[in-house]
Amino acid sequence: VDVLRLGYRLGRDPRITTHLALVGRALGADRFLLAGDEDPKMFENLESVADRFGGGMETEHVHAPMGWLRRFVEEDAGDGSPGIAVHLTMYGEPFREAIPRIRRDRPMVIVVGGAKVPGDVYKHCQYNVAVGNQPHSEVAALALFLDAWYGESGSNRSFDDARLIIQPTANGKRVRDLDREEE
Ligand code: SAM
Repeated sequence: VDVLRLGYRLGRDPRITTHLALVGRALGADRFLLAGDEDPKMFENLESVADRFGGGMETEHVHAPMGWLRRFVEEDAGDGSPGIAVHLTMYGEPFREAIPRIRRDRPMVIVVGGAKVPGDVYKHCQYNVAVGNQPHSEVAALALFLDAWYGESGSNRSFDDARLIIQPTANGKRVRDLDREEE
């Protein structure tokens, strides 16, 4: 599962877009694709989280997102065959009704917008789905969609390559630091 964020603007969007990528990583996406401005620093921050907490997520800048999307759904989703594109938009059909119809045996890209989404996105994506028909946030929309897509297992992920492991506790913070335990 890839997440493609369109229309990224340096200066305005780094914090919310970092959150979008972190939600993707924590809830089951494998790759984070960014279109719009390039931001190597944000990618470094994401790598640093993955370094400590495991679960590395591939990051990539996409220069021509409409061409990329058209190729993904019509030609090659990375394995030589077409994939599935799901656009999260408040104008779409209810996500819980769409999910059972979306095939699970193909690579999928979840497309989210920023301030303005080009009309072509609606044409290229096989599914335009809404997480409620009110305007809110790409972060919330992605979280709810991934939760419904994966079910409970999605948000209960642990990563084998983690160096810091959080021990759930009702009070305070408990974190195992594997590097220190090895010293
Ligand atoms: N007016 C904008 C538009 O063109 O859709 C809304 C921008 S909104 C701040 C940024 C992104 O959040 C949208 O492109 C969409 O991906 C996501 N989003 C916001 N509300 C949503 C909803 N109710 N359902 C699904 N996605 C939503």
